Amino acid sequence: VDANIVPIDGKEPGEQNLIVLLYDITEIRRLEKVRTDFVTNASHELKTPITALKGFSETLLDGAMEDKEVLKQFLEIMLAESSRLDFLVNDILELSKLEQKQVPMNIQEINLTETVLSTIQLVKQTADNKQMKLNVIEEDNLLITGDSSRLKQILANLINNAVVYTQEKGKVTVTIKKENDYAVIRVSDNGIGIPEDEQDRIFERFYRVDKARSRNSGGTGLGLSIVKYLIENLNGSISVESKLGLGTTFIVKLPIHPNE
Ligand code: ADP
Repeated sequence: VDANIVPIDGKEPGEQNLIVLLYDITEIRRLEKVRTDFVTNASHELKTPITALKGFSETLLDGAMEDKEVLKQFLEIMLAESSRLDFLVNDILELSKLEQKQVPMNIQEINLTETVLSTIQLVKQTADNKQMKLNVIEEDNLLITGDSSRLKQILANLINNAVVYTQEKGKVTVTIKKENDYAVIRVSDNGIGIPEDEQDRIFERFYRVDKARSRNSGGTGLGLSIVKYLIENLNGSISVESKLGLGTTFIVKLPIHPNE
């Protein structure tokens, strides 16, 4: 707590009163910590691909490039690490724009099922490669007011995670339903699940249950924090239900007509 003490003259001559102002700065401190942690974590995350790029190029220049096979193999790794760097910087910039509310919303009427179906196309190849089933269940046909590209970004993140964190031959189901004045979208998988004590933390920046697995699948650890921001900007909410080893469901609630 921060305090300010202001002396004021009382009614009687010689009488002195004090006004004591107490400020609760817990929230300010917390936000400061989130910010400094973010810079530390971001630098750390950026260093990993940079170190790899430096190491591989040095080894090549030291003579490894004479071997055509090794040259090709190292260049492929360097390309993958450059993409990583690219994804990371894009996600960091996206988060900082969202934080500063610099993201203009392009509000229009959206058909939810059509949006889900077109978003699913983005992960179809990966799902096919893993022989997975992708289903869409439309319990209600919904037209909602919102930003279509933002909605796609939210869905793409959740559906992509569902595919990434589920074993081969697994199943991902997206359900669309109306509940009161809200559109409720459930993205369910029967994948690896999330331990109960980590379920709150996955929306934090750079938090991953399994860092190696996330990295190998091209994850930056920022997807869900971006998703959470976007949903909050649309006046909605997101929650998660998961059982380790059985699967995960993300539940997104968006107001059907936010401004009414
Ligand atoms: P990442 O880029 O690592 O996927 P996200 O912010 O999208 O980052 O997700 C954070 C973490 O939450 C992931 O690293 C993973 O551990 C966990 N996670 C997200 N979605 C799922 C899911 N459908 N099943 C299991 N774990 C998940």
